[in-house]
Amino acid sequence: MTAQQSTCAKCGFSSEKNKSKLGLTLCSVCYQFAPNTSDEIDEYLENKIDKDSLNHFRKYADLIGQPQKKGMITKASIGKPMSRPAFGYQFQQSKLVPAQNWREVEEIFHEFLTTNISLRKLSAKHNFSVNGLKKILKNFTYIGKVRFNNQIYEGEHKPIISTTLFNHVQNKLEKLEKKKNN
Ligand SMILES: [Zn+2]
Repeated sequence: MTAQQSTCAKCGFSSEKNKSKLGLTLCSVCYQFAPNTSDEIDEYLENKIDKDSLNHFRKYADLIGQPQKKGMITKASIGKPMSRPAFGYQFQQSKLVPAQNWREVEEIFHEFLTTNISLRKLSAKHNFSVNGLKKILKNFTYIGKVRFNNQIYEGEHKPIISTTLFNHVQNKLEKLEKKKNN
């Protein structure tokens, strides 16, 4: 063990106590929630979290080897802003609020649901990759929820898509993916 400080790959927290997992440096909090395969950990890292939002329960980090404490800490972190807002949102005084382009999100959901446009065409139309578009269509942020550590929680921000529209879009996406796999 060296006493050198390193920087957490998920939240940017610098500490001598940061640990290593699958070749990545993670702080004690992010380490506890990190998945165990490299595919999953890529997704985990993409979902960046602001190190300051983890501060107030960093002090519990030593305790969270125990599973029941994990749940507590996951709950404590909900509703805290991520460092990159979802498309259609922006940060205002560190709160997540709809951005000027929020209607484009609604248009995308509507168009996908009510027309037969392909994902490829729809993504090109709005300047996304197909995967980028799929991420938008599956993003719980748009119905006011927060995803953390693969669990969905009630967020503190304003939804821009109705739950009904969102659910219909999930059904259509599932059907599309089933077709592809058959
Ligand atoms: Zn971290």
